[in-house]
Amino acid sequence: MKTGSSLATPPAVRPSCWYDAYFFDLDGTIYLGDEALPGAVETIACLRRRGVQVRFLSNNPTKSPQQYVDKLAGMGIATTLDEITTSITTTVWWLTTYHREATIFPIAEEPLCQALREAGFRLSDDPSQIDIVIASYDRGFDYAKLQTAFDALWYHKRAILIQTNPDRYCPFPDGRGQPDAAAITAAIEACAQVPCQASMGKPSPLLLEAGLAGLDLPHDRCIMTGDRLGTDIRMAIDAHMPAAVVFTGEARPEDLTALHADVFRLNSINQLLPG
Ligand SMILES: [Mg+2]
Repeated sequence: MKTGSSLATPPAVRPSCWYDAYFFDLDGTIYLGDEALPGAVETIACLRRRGVQVRFLSNNPTKSPQQYVDKLAGMGIATTLDEITTSITTTVWWLTTYHREATIFPIAEEPLCQALREAGFRLSDDPSQIDIVIASYDRGFDYAKLQTAFDALWYHKRAILIQTNPDRYCPFPDGRGQPDAAAITAAIEACAQVPCQASMGKPSPLLLEAGLAGLDLPHDRCIMTGDRLGTDIRMAIDAHMPAAVVFTGEARPEDLTALHADVFRLNSINQLLPG
């Protein structure tokens, strides 16, 4: 069971300057469940008024970019499709680039399956035909899907395993959460005894590169804000991009280590703006 910290909330460590582009995680950073987190709507509105670039980078493959545009609009955050990059975006890009002719078995919800079909991929649940098994955040995961992945990977020994994102759970408003793609990946790895060969979500640089597309900006003029040290913040550190962790999702102040010495620390998303 997750328990709250008994430590007093440390003071925020805030940026003292403006950046030219702001990258945001979504779950646990901009909203929890269907509710915008305190300060999120105002922070995005302030950045819009300033005329800087805003991008949203989510590992969550259970919604299409259009569904994210609609969800954010419902919270009062206006966005456009080109401002949303998810692990669906990177998964389709990676498969199109490196495995154009592959037959895919996506253990995934409809938005990823639809994106793969629209990109022209052949989807199959015949283990003798499958070249790539995708482990994803799939709330319809069941024993039959596990058996198909097991047969394709272990019995036929022809498929490879990739995942959309490495998150172990998706945070919920009540402090609970929902098992995410890491759990499904682990179930397949445990029985098939084959390692996952590629991950399409943060901290992979794929998601950041996709988000940076069209922005002619050096990394040090951008800032990445997220609630997870192992994905959002790790990706930014690896890319030498300024980063801010916000303690409204997974990470707690006591989780930070020497690796995070230069990471801004926010108790609320509006502390991202210079005071
Ligand atoms: Mg998050």
